[in-house]
Amino acid sequence: MHNNTRKPHILIIYTGGTIGMIENPETHSLQPFDFTHLIDNVPKIKMLDYIIENIQFNPPIDSSDMNPEHWKEIARNIEDNFDRFDGFVVLHGTDTMAYTASALSFMLENLHKPVIITGSQLPIGEVRTDGEENLITALQIAAATGINGEPMVQEVAILFENYLWRGNRSTKMSADNFNAFKSNNYPSLAKIGLDIHFNEEVLWRVQAKRPLKVQYEMDPAVMFIVLNPGMTENVLRHQLSVPGIKGIVLKTFGAGNAPTHPWFTDAIHEAVERGIVIVNVTQCVNGGVDTKRYMSGNRLAATGIISGHDITSEAAITKMMYLFGLGLSTTDVRRYFECSLCGEVTL
Ligand code: ASP
Repeated sequence: MHNNTRKPHILIIYTGGTIGMIENPETHSLQPFDFTHLIDNVPKIKMLDYIIENIQFNPPIDSSDMNPEHWKEIARNIEDNFDRFDGFVVLHGTDTMAYTASALSFMLENLHKPVIITGSQLPIGEVRTDGEENLITALQIAAATGINGEPMVQEVAILFENYLWRGNRSTKMSADNFNAFKSNNYPSLAKIGLDIHFNEEVLWRVQAKRPLKVQYEMDPAVMFIVLNPGMTENVLRHQLSVPGIKGIVLKTFGAGNAPTHPWFTDAIHEAVERGIVIVNVTQCVNGGVDTKRYMSGNRLAATGIISGHDITSEAAITKMMYLFGLGLSTTDVRRYFECSLCGEVTL
């Protein structure tokens, strides 16, 4: 990390999540609370000697309530303040953090500053909270620069406990472990121990630095279909004919395999013929789609569905929302799934 004499300017965007929650005295369940409460619990923040401003969602939300309108609000806050700040820290619930991180990675085109998303498993007011450490480390990462003075991280990333992960490669792996996130098909961007050790070779860099451009339209006409042994033709056809659906992420078995019954492949093929873009993504947390490995995968590929390779479900569904949001044709959406837009897939 390089030491600069100018104080880093960091914007915190507080959306909600466990990190800022308190217990409801009647129901004893956790609910979002305001930013002043959160920041009052982290007096150490002053030791950082940064210029920190904040914006909070009104009201702050549990991330299960996140939707594309909230992603737009986060993106709008980043765009409006992009030139004034060196980096951005988004405080967010863990449940849908990987979806928000993936969505923002597509929406914030030409991003070349850090957008570090973090949260916690225990509320900041609890004695054993992980929130304080996560917030402080996220701020330090958002302020970190390389020897050329450029931001060390120039992408959307998730900081959680001991690791920094690429946002659009991440998945929530645990509902109660402090190391709650992982990117199963991509190395960590940094390891957090006594120091923050960046893995510089795997950090994202834009080819040519262009002004930030935000793509606000995210088309919600997409859905998951998750295969299970015993799925009937009726259930599959019913899901494939949801009115208005433009894209489907089909969550298949193993290396992208699915039943070989003709009724199954016929139903998928007919949906593709009707113009629905179907992307094959494995249900496994690690590894990707390789439809050449088994006959069952081969048959599925012959229906005209496209391979998601090693993309996460979260990145696949938000990439579809983004591509359809751009107003692209079916052919172009299919084509862009064969490209890595911002490091979301290994091809
Ligand atoms: N339900 C919470 C949320 O996602 C969980 C958390 O923050 O860990 O907002």
